Amino acid sequence: MRTYAITVMATAMLAWSAGCASVETTAADKQMEKRIDKLLAKMTLEEKVGQMTQVTLEVVGGESSEDGWLKLDEKKLQDAIIAHQVGSILNCGGQARSVDNWLQIITQMQAMATKQTRLGIPIIYGIDAIHGANYTLGATIFPQHIAMAATGNVELVRIESEITALEVRASGMPWNFSPVLGLGRNPMWPRQWETFGEDAYISSVMAAAYVEGQQGSDISQPTKVAACMKHYLGYSVPLSGKDRTPAYIPERQLRQLFLKPFAAAAKVGVATVMVNSSEINGIPVHSDRFLLIDVLRGELGFEGFVVSDWADINNLYTREMVARYQRQAVKMAVMAGVDMSMVPYDYSFYEHLVDLVKTGEVPMSRIDEAVADILRVKFQLGLFEKPYPDKQLKEQFATDASRQANLQAAREAMTLLKNESGLLPLGKDKKVLVTGPCSDKLSILNGGWTITWQGDNEALYPQEKSTILEAIQDKVGASNVEYIEAVKFDKELDISRAVSAASRVDVIVACLGEPTYCETPGNIDDLMLSAPQIRLVQELAKTDKPIVMVFTQGRPRVIRTIVDNAGAILMAYLPGMEGGQAIADVLFGDANPSGKLPFTYPKYSGWHVCYDHKKSENAAPNKFDPQWEFGHGLSYTTFKYGDLRIDKNNISADDTLIVTVNVTNTGQREAAEIVQLFLSDIVATVTPPVKSLKRFTKIFLKPGEKQTVKFELSWDDFAFIGRQNKPVVEPGEFKISLGGLTKAFEIQ
Ligand code: BGC
Repeated sequence: MRTYAITVMATAMLAWSAGCASVETTAADKQMEKRIDKLLAKMTLEEKVGQMTQVTLEVVGGESSEDGWLKLDEKKLQDAIIAHQVGSILNCGGQARSVDNWLQIITQMQAMATKQTRLGIPIIYGIDAIHGANYTLGATIFPQHIAMAATGNVELVRIESEITALEVRASGMPWNFSPVLGLGRNPMWPRQWETFGEDAYISSVMAAAYVEGQQGSDISQPTKVAACMKHYLGYSVPLSGKDRTPAYIPERQLRQLFLKPFAAAAKVGVATVMVNSSEINGIPVHSDRFLLIDVLRGELGFEGFVVSDWADINNLYTREMVARYQRQAVKMAVMAGVDMSMVPYDYSFYEHLVDLVKTGEVPMSRIDEAVADILRVKFQLGLFEKPYPDKQLKEQFATDASRQANLQAAREAMTLLKNESGLLPLGKDKKVLVTGPCSDKLSILNGGWTITWQGDNEALYPQEKSTILEAIQDKVGASNVEYIEAVKFDKELDISRAVSAASRVDVIVACLGEPTYCETPGNIDDLMLSAPQIRLVQELAKTDKPIVMVFTQGRPRVIRTIVDNAGAILMAYLPGMEGGQAIADVLFGDANPSGKLPFTYPKYSGWHVCYDHKKSENAAPNKFDPQWEFGHGLSYTTFKYGDLRIDKNNISADDTLIVTVNVTNTGQREAAEIVQLFLSDIVATVTPPVKSLKRFTKIFLKPGEKQTVKFELSWDDFAFIGRQNKPVVEPGEFKISLGGLTKAFEIQ
């Protein structure tokens, strides 16, 4: 195992949030380390560098037949696995494959790796199974992370992750490039929906649950995979809002916010990490030894291996311009701590690195370190003992129970933003006009990383799943539904037809939002909802029919100019394959919405700050004025919060503070409520945020039922990153706010 010199700063950090994965070396671990050492001793330089090389499936893929079955090219496979001894292959070759095709592909690769190479080292296949096994046909495809965060249900996240791990492993793959742990604090960024939202605490809790769901207590179990936390660090807040452009984040803020979810995942033993494709403060993270070694390994106690993102070692040379030659980029990244290169199209990394070691520019000790880390994960996964997929797992693939869990997740994600005069839920005797570009597509419910990278190949979606339109037809009968698309995202079709159809119905359901996209193709110049959609609503509003707006979108598009036109607004995010049904269930009252916004919904394109902003950002003439606040979300019932108590009014920094509150369902319907506790440090030596979320829990209440919720706060919760960039707790006044109630206490 590696040993690292831990810096002074690191020591403070260790005592604090990371909690550092304390490693008890067991006899089995010692045995494994011996096997790693023995294997390393036998390996040639080329075999070692091969382990550090990852290529994409296209490099070894042959032709896809008409029915989507992919046949590998034996010669190219030999070139990768035998000639270059690659340690890993990734991706799906353009589109999702059937379970059987995956089993055949992985079996063929492992047979070659284990039987036809000198040392028989299995490969580790990696896939982006971001919201379910989304590259396997027929898999359970869940809401995207942003929607899972809105559920406020940590147990559901764990269940989602367990089902995903099982279905990925049933597809023969042991390594999942998930979860995304960046904080979605810049809604322009096209990957906001891959995050658990803007808050560091929610993201940390969800991160740990997700990693535990993927890995269990032992990743050699047949239904578990190695998780990959990504994209370490600071990828999610490019100043320009465009994907893969610079972020500027002071170290204090990195530690205060962005590091926390990664620390939480490291603490539960995440096996791998993927690096931020871009840069922070002018330093591309693929070249940042401080972040990749000192912080990640020294402070967070991360013990797995570090994989680059797509072509990003090369990008040090072609895009970031910190290396003059490709060879220099390879040296830079490897010496900074990148263990495996997602090259992904050729063997240039392999060739350069072999040469760099031969010329003594990269020491063999660094190669041994990286290869040991990669081999360790392969041993931990049990790949040496069982390199082949477990075919029995197919029986547990996409079961009805998994579908039910998925439906529950989609329902719990639904966030009711507005509901004037109880417009929702709708009666099932209503005549409905369904309109808008999101009405009748499965792709817009799912977003990117679904069947294809961009998620936009509607023809490949499972046709038995319901679009919003189909699910509404199921509720009220097809004859009671008129459907007029009226506009595409970027152009008007026939708004006047929709307007005249409105006269024949009781209510209009306008299905609006964004087309599907993933990564850089999702870059936008304006956060405003597209003009044709805005005009559709404005024209419909001239009729006297009530309008319900349903948004399927990966980020909060600005809708200020049409909010008043709607009686009700439902945020559905990207709710996954059961999303159509979940939306209709909420619209017609078969499910009671309980989601809460995991981000601040902006009112303006040019004025956005998160909920944990500073006081000056809400001091005249500035006004913190979002469309809806972080944590907003209505229900069909009402809740009363009462009797907020703390067990002490004066504490020392090391004390535990117990907070209790009563929550009562005062309405007529069974309901779930996410109880959120915020803390404000009133005066501090670093300007304090107005409040920060410290705890949340989801409770389920029958009509009239009351529950007492208890939270405990301690040092970590009272601390912030001080002027020395270290966590401190300062004496003074603090305020708890919870469900509209507040309580003050003092730290002496
Ligand atoms: C993305 C990663 C992904 C990788 C492999 C990159 O473009 O940034 O999130 O894991 O591709 O598909």
